[in-house]
Amino acid sequence: MNIIDGKKISEEIKEDLKKEIIDKNLKPSIAIIMVGNNPASEVYVRNKLKACEKVGIKAELFHYEENVSEDEIIDCIEKLNANEDVHGIIVQSPLPYKLREKEDYITNFIKPDKDVDGFGIYSLGCVTSDQTKFLAATPYGIIKMLEHENIDVEGKNVVVVGRSVIVGRPLALALLNKNATVTIAHSKTKNLKEICNMADILVVAIGKDRFITADYVKEGAVVIDVGINRIDGKLYGDVDFESVKDKCSYITPVPGGVGPMTIAMLLTNVVESAKNAIEIKERGKWTRNLKKH
Ligand code: NDP
Repeated sequence: MNIIDGKKISEEIKEDLKKEIIDKNLKPSIAIIMVGNNPASEVYVRNKLKACEKVGIKAELFHYEENVSEDEIIDCIEKLNANEDVHGIIVQSPLPYKLREKEDYITNFIKPDKDVDGFGIYSLGCVTSDQTKFLAATPYGIIKMLEHENIDVEGKNVVVVGRSVIVGRPLALALLNKNATVTIAHSKTKNLKEICNMADILVVAIGKDRFITADYVKEGAVVIDVGINRIDGKLYGDVDFESVKDKCSYITPVPGGVGPMTIAMLLTNVVESAKNAIEIKERGKWTRNLKKH
């Protein structure tokens, strides 16, 4: 069994970004909009700010009180959309209860060129049509990890458990674009165990502490654990690492697997956006700059 070291791979990606920023004299910049004081969000935002600083991306935090209005956030997004020096805009999820239902609506005000989280409908639409503007950072990180380990997905049975818009759905489509045979499972799926047992590559993103045990896993499968569950101050995945590790060929640990890759790929998207902005300026006209991952 091989442990896929997401921390190490992400450090390599960040080193390459740092070098590229210096070599090409790029001035990448991201704006992070945060509302309220959700403790988990505060940690994520702090980590993003730190990671940006380390690679040379300018990061500015727009931190609003919980009682901010929807219009104030949208105004902020519109100003950032118009600011040529800003290459990426993200709204830290989740928004406070009062605004939660409006989260997708608000996020969709971010211009597709700056949607470095890839959660907007334009970015999601691109991945359904076998192209990408910005692939969401977690699916992008998983694709990069598989590539790093030379795990070819073409023709493989991939089961993605979880169908969220930020992980399961874009990942399933990105893998389909790479010619995998993809099954998406969710909370209403019947015979989940049987379906998981067909997987050459099993990806789990459900947010249920150590839910996937060895009996869900085919001998020799690749297991990617996206889950982050905090139990008594310790982090666990959605996969029961101890019972599964001896059955699979590759597995990602929690922590130190998908998590660090997510931040590295967000930074990659910001740098990509900064390069796109230069290209658009040089051409003197807007370009869709779509690519295949
Ligand atoms: P969501 O809550 O948005 O989605 C969870 C998905 O899992 C839903 O599709 C749900 O089905 C499905 N599900 C829930 N219970 C079961 C079950 N018993 N059997 C099968 N499917 C089930 O979660 P996210 O996608 O946002 O996150 C999932 C996990 O990944 C969380 O632990 C989160 O913290 C973590 N995460 C980690 C990241 C990282 O960087 N490592 C990044 C993003 C998330 P249904 O649609 O039917 O409700």
